Amino acid sequence: MPLPLLLPFLFVIPEGNLLFVTPTESLALAAASLSATAAVTLAYAALSPGSQLFGHTLIAGSNPNEAALTYDDGPNDAVTEALLETLATHNARATFFVIGRYVRQRPEIVRRIRAAGHLVGNHTETHPWLAWQSARGIQEELRACNQAIEDALGEPVWYFRPPHGARRPLVLRAAAELGLTTVQWNVMGMDWRPIGADRILSHIDRGLARTRRRGTGANILLHDGSQHGIGADRAATVAATTALLKRFAADGTRTVTVDAWA
Ligand SMILES: [Zn+2]
Repeated sequence: MPLPLLLPFLFVIPEGNLLFVTPTESLALAAASLSATAAVTLAYAALSPGSQLFGHTLIAGSNPNEAALTYDDGPNDAVTEALLETLATHNARATFFVIGRYVRQRPEIVRRIRAAGHLVGNHTETHPWLAWQSARGIQEELRACNQAIEDALGEPVWYFRPPHGARRPLVLRAAAELGLTTVQWNVMGMDWRPIGADRILSHIDRGLARTRRRGTGANILLHDGSQHGIGADRAATVAATTALLKRFAADGTRTVTVDAWA
């Protein structure tokens, strides 16, 4: 067996984790066996938010004056409520990718998100690494979260973001079977670490400069919650959001929910 198949690959990826990736899909295994370069390509396909090698994912539209604020890992009590307040103040719409087991504990917050006109998407039931899950495990994670959201809102779910952005063909297939469009991002606030609002904004600024250069909308990844439990402090994310919304109002950037690009 060629060396690349024997070694896991180490990556720093969103939400502050390291990931060891071992090639698993048969087609990908064939590709990886060709060379180390091919193996790195496989890891890129699994982890890079922009990669379309494992199948189509929704990122952004072609209007550089549009931005989708997306918040993962909630609902999260006062943080989510504070975001709803600042979004309402600025008449902005956002997308919340919620964790099913939190939705079961806080269905009223999810109802408030929806009632305010925001989009609610599936971020799995327990926030696992889907790259490690069996086909059945992936289906159960997606189904359970869908069920939690549907129980809370009384309406179906159409959008899904994989935890850490990690996916493989099975993940995209399981999502599609449930009618879910898989959503990635192209701008990161890096706010899963306690870096403060100014640094979150400077990460976003770099991302926005890039999307404007490329002539695409901005799909901005932020976090109102944490995969580690309800109650995480995301005050910096709320402050960064408020600053960003003021800037958007001044420069004419329009906030959209990700379904605007579907
Ligand atoms: Zn997440």
